[in-house]
Amino acid sequence: MSLKCAHIDTAALDARLLLQHVLGVSHERLLADDLPALTPGQEADYQELIRKRGAWQPLAQLTGRREFYGWEFKVTEHTLDPRPDSETLIDAVLEFVERGTWNVEPDNTLPRTTYHAPRILDLGTGTGCLLLTLLKEIDNARGVGVDISEEALNVARDNAIRLGLQERALFARSHWGDSVEGKFDIIVANPPYIPTHAIATLAPEVSRYEPRLALDGGEDGLNAYRAIMPQLPLLLADGGIAAFEIGMGQEEEVEKIVTSYELRVAGMKCDLGGIPRCILVQHSS
Ligand code: GLN
Repeated sequence: MSLKCAHIDTAALDARLLLQHVLGVSHERLLADDLPALTPGQEADYQELIRKRGAWQPLAQLTGRREFYGWEFKVTEHTLDPRPDSETLIDAVLEFVERGTWNVEPDNTLPRTTYHAPRILDLGTGTGCLLLTLLKEIDNARGVGVDISEEALNVARDNAIRLGLQERALFARSHWGDSVEGKFDIIVANPPYIPTHAIATLAPEVSRYEPRLALDGGEDGLNAYRAIMPQLPLLLADGGIAAFEIGMGQEEEVEKIVTSYELRVAGMKCDLGGIPRCILVQHSS
């Protein structure tokens, strides 16, 4: 079975990336003349990966990793594969931070204890990609990532260690904010937002292999926002910001949910395809 026969659009690219994975080499090294032939073990591993990819298993699950915002994340079948769309959330939060709404850099004119290190909360953290990327980008921030899935939390903890962030990131099991205490300056979430009936229409990589828990937003796709928004006024610090990923065309409905809880929509940000992908939320007063 070849990937072309399986109608994988990116057949040639995927075959090459899987070969690099089996050999543990870069693209440049793969092209070098002196590359040794595959051992029988490597050949068998490669054929097995091609078979799985031909059955639509996502490439990231097969190689076990995925790049997000320039950082490499471990990915398993228990975590949503980080997507470029979600980088919109990171950009939106960083723009807010850079506007200087609060001090993220130590201010030497103030006594050390008074400068403000932002506290970040990531609801439904999965691989941890949102929280860990923000911790990489905001030097003195600390954060908590919660997920209902223990398997996902283990992946997120692994990613924190790989990225050298274990001192600044804590991961704990919680259904949204149920078990979270305290106030956070930045709250992020990429909750499940696909309407249940639409899951079967997604690409087979997604519908067959990605965790349903991370995709299924209930009948209209909005259940997670209905669960999270009432918790937000307590969790969000004064002057803080929450950034939520949303599905295509969900902005008006999500805004209605937001504004029914003493919260307001402070902005929207489109993804690279021009689709409103991130909704920014603050306290209404
Ligand atoms: N963006 C994902 C998809 O369309 C869904 C992720 C989510 O539900 N949060 O495949």
